[in-house]
Amino acid sequence: MEELSAKDLRERIAAGRITSVEATGAVFGRIDEREPVIGAYLSTYRETALARAAEVDRRIAAGEQVGQLAGVPVAIKDNMCSMFGATTCASRILENFHSPYNATVVKKLLAADAVIVGKTNMDEFAMGSSTENSGLKQTVNPWDTSRVPGGSSGGSAAAVAGRLCYAALGSDTGGSIRQPASFCGVVGLKPTYGRVSRYGLVAYGSSLDQIGPITQTVTDAALMMNVIAGHDPADSTSVDEAVAPVCDYLARLDEPVENLRIGIVPQLNSGADESVQRALNAAIDVYKAAGADIVEVDMPHSDYAIGAYYIIATAEASSNLARYDGVHYGHRSDKAEDYVEVYSKSRAEAFGKEVKRRIMLGTYALSSGYYDAYYLKALKVRNLIRRDFTEAFEKCDCIMMPVAPTTAFKLGEKVDDPLTMYLSDVYTIAANLAGIPGISIPCGFDENNLPIGLQILAPAFAEDKLLRIAKMFEAETDLHRKKPTIV
Ligand code: GLN
Repeated sequence: MEELSAKDLRERIAAGRITSVEATGAVFGRIDEREPVIGAYLSTYRETALARAAEVDRRIAAGEQVGQLAGVPVAIKDNMCSMFGATTCASRILENFHSPYNATVVKKLLAADAVIVGKTNMDEFAMGSSTENSGLKQTVNPWDTSRVPGGSSGGSAAAVAGRLCYAALGSDTGGSIRQPASFCGVVGLKPTYGRVSRYGLVAYGSSLDQIGPITQTVTDAALMMNVIAGHDPADSTSVDEAVAPVCDYLARLDEPVENLRIGIVPQLNSGADESVQRALNAAIDVYKAAGADIVEVDMPHSDYAIGAYYIIATAEASSNLARYDGVHYGHRSDKAEDYVEVYSKSRAEAFGKEVKRRIMLGTYALSSGYYDAYYLKALKVRNLIRRDFTEAFEKCDCIMMPVAPTTAFKLGEKVDDPLTMYLSDVYTIAANLAGIPGISIPCGFDENNLPIGLQILAPAFAEDKLLRIAKMFEAETDLHRKKPTIV
């Protein structure tokens, strides 16, 4: 059962060959065994999950219609509001926050009859690339427990890789779905900005954040998209389906893309480790053998992407995180002597180091006199990067590049060097700045047997094509079937 994809499990449950109670029980068995080492979850819900599984089984036995994820154990990142359990964002400031409502994606998972087994660890408020910035817990990489799972959705990626759930949701502001997927040898899709509702996703960089699936296979990513994509009147940035229709992402998934033109950006790729470049080139060869044409494209402004991203993301974060002050939300200091200290001490006590650094950077970039020099300039760069992609996509259907310059690094290796940590996002952030979709799929291993991801980027709202392109590669390899040592 551990071998099954989410889609296979769903089919077997619906056909009465396995019960959801059996599948969910087995997941909790693995959680008992492996979670003490992996540390993927901030909370799990054994009793409610098993009760829900039993309810789905009962409905199937009674011949009732069930949803697309009926009985499938899934996990969500702990920055998505849920009425069950706490929603902590892995921060001590929200350790005891219980949301009065469910995020739209949570509602959709429940409406699809998924069984939510738990909420996963992350970098505090999704700020980081290794999950080491979690204020609550450490997560390790199931392929090598001395290494990071990537971040910020490291808990979700480690849970899927460790088979502690069948699929998970993550959020991606600058790479937080794709990079941990790459480090953990699983599939991670960041949809187009506006494709999936952000209602109930605790905001980090509101103009960049997007929720997406982390799964074992491309097919499962398509299945999850069928459940979560679509317009939501509660999120004004979610896109009208009359403008960009949502399709059935599973329907034509197995049809290869004809006359595929793949864009590559040679000067970018040379910045990655040799093993990463080798795996990328080997993956591109697989596409060539399938008849794809390779075209070189130019991304003239990519050098400025990291700078622009860390101004825009921190500026938005400084505003979004203002509400955690011990009054509106969050931990309240009991050492305050007056009301100003309620704010300052509550925030000083409960935010972690990286979050404080980002709030300071963002506040500075927005402050009078610096706004034009930093924030406005970053917005202009963002426009140029968007234009680079528009021009590139006139010559190709998708762009392939590494997900990250390296494979999973050692725990502790980069925590004291924020700049180096920021640089691990060099390949992923441009997609967020431009709002386009991107996927990471397993494409090889380095000399330490650590997984390497292939990143494929596509024009806005071309998720269906992106998934089909990714599926073409998966169909040619068995990389997605390789299991981490801990499994
Ligand atoms: N590592 C990036 C950051 O720290 C991206 C994080 C994310 O996508 N949430 O901002």
